[in-house]
Amino acid sequence: MPDFQTTLVSSLYVHVPFCAQKCAYCAFYSEPSTGDLINRYVAGLVRELELVAEDLRPKTIFFGGGTPSLLNLRQWEHILRALERLNLLGAEEFSVECNPATVSADKAKLLRDFGVNRISVGVQSLDEALLDRLGRIHSREMVFKSFDLLRQAGFDNLNLDLMFAIPGQTLEIWRATLDEALALDSEHLSSYEVIYEDDTPLFAQLQAGEFDVDEDLACAMYEELVERATTAGFRQYEVANFAREQRRSDGVKEYWSDVGKDAQPSSSPPLHHPIARFACRHNVNYWRGGSFYGLGPSATSYVRGVRTKNWANTQLYCEQLERGKRAIESREELPPLKRAGETAAFGLRLVAGWPFDEFRRVTNFDLREGWTAEMGQLTARGWAARDENHFQLTSQGLRFADAAAEMFLR
Ligand code: SF4
Repeated sequence: MPDFQTTLVSSLYVHVPFCAQKCAYCAFYSEPSTGDLINRYVAGLVRELELVAEDLRPKTIFFGGGTPSLLNLRQWEHILRALERLNLLGAEEFSVECNPATVSADKAKLLRDFGVNRISVGVQSLDEALLDRLGRIHSREMVFKSFDLLRQAGFDNLNLDLMFAIPGQTLEIWRATLDEALALDSEHLSSYEVIYEDDTPLFAQLQAGEFDVDEDLACAMYEELVERATTAGFRQYEVANFAREQRRSDGVKEYWSDVGKDAQPSSSPPLHHPIARFACRHNVNYWRGGSFYGLGPSATSYVRGVRTKNWANTQLYCEQLERGKRAIESREELPPLKRAGETAAFGLRLVAGWPFDEFRRVTNFDLREGWTAEMGQLTARGWAARDENHFQLTSQGLRFADAAAEMFLR
């Protein structure tokens, strides 16, 4: 099995729990920012990094949130210098999420200078009325400006985040947003259907009958997404994620047979299920059941079969770290079979599904022994396909990946 005892953890997530204002649909832990609390958080985060640094050798780093780009230059420099001092820089993939309203040339340059090589831009929509409806703080113009600015700063691996099935969004609006977003020529595209989470303004509006959910329209939008992204040269590698195999400007085509610590580019496509070169390796590690440290308020870690969760309270997080200990709220050691079931479920979100050998290497269990009935049911329903070496969801099955994945939990 990988990851055990001697192997250092190669994946780091950092949660930045601040936003300029709360979006109408958002249930992530974040709050409107104040300068003092952000400074205190930065000091706490550096302390938390110090506490785990010895067990970390990051190949992927992801700063998400919240709005990481809300941190000012001084705060970013403090964090990046700490990463440098602790020998945590040099990741193959170092991503930072940015809101188009909070990107500046200085910040982009600083990030780039310290090895950030991938930016995920939270676009959500390119329709002004819908941006307003969602409570986003940026305009469509800011999306184009920030995209250009990031390119000028030298970022050649950019993701755009889009959202569909937004109340009030028609198929025509969605097509127009997709076309404009695809024309930007990013290396990666993520697109999720709106989810109605408890305790969000959007959920309250739904409960109050202000609009209805139209599942057929959501399905049609998903189909448009897959078709247009694929036509534009993206490869779908996960339910909601698309990546290029090459930059438009690149002459050489490279393929990645898998994404993980042993991944190597090659000039010829692997026989089965290639994952595109610009796939987000950090997220592929999640879907493949790899270990990762998650730092910051509310972040989850999964290290050698033990899941821990930090307090979703920035004050408390800071207090604990000021006393020199990690701000862990809960700790769960997963029994091997439960862990294998979760790993199976996560991995099915990937278009590549599970090569049986890979699943056994990661979990010590064999899908062909413990999950035969589930694989049979899904295959009979047309939601999955199986051959001698692999099991994967079909395009129809991917649309219902959550329901399919649930069947594999133990
Ligand atoms: S910017 Fe992102 S994290 Fe912040 S409230 Fe909006 S969706 Fe949530």
